[in-house]
Amino acid sequence: MHELSLMSNLLEHAVAAADGAPICAMRVRVGPLSGVVIDALRFAFEALAPGTPAEGARLDIEETAPLLHCPRCGADYATPVGFYECPSCGAADGELRGGNELELASIEVPDHV
Ligand SMILES: [Zn+2]
Repeated sequence: MHELSLMSNLLEHAVAAADGAPICAMRVRVGPLSGVVIDALRFAFEALAPGTPAEGARLDIEETAPLLHCPRCGADYATPVGFYECPSCGAADGELRGGNELELASIEVPDHV
C-alpha cells in the first residue's frame, strides 16, 4: 500500500519538527489530484504511529481544491475537480498550480514553559 510509505515520510517530518517532543496532533494537506486515499492514509497512521512520538496524536486531514493559474488574465483560482474554466475570463487552459500535494501542514506539541 502506497499510503504506508507516504505516511511514514510524513511521520518522519513530524517527528523531526517536534524535536523530541511528543506530538498531540498532525495536520496533513491532501490535494484531490494527489491520488492519495484518505481512509488508507488514516489507516497507515494508525498502523505506524504507535512507538513514535506521534502515538495517540490526532490526525487532521485538510482536503484542498485544485488551484489554477489563468495564463490569459492572470487570475489564480481554486476550483472543483473537473471544472477548470477561469471564473474571470472563461479560458479553459489554466495551468495547474496545486491540488496534487501531500504535505505536512503543521504539528501541535504540548506547551512547555
Ligand atoms: Zn482568466
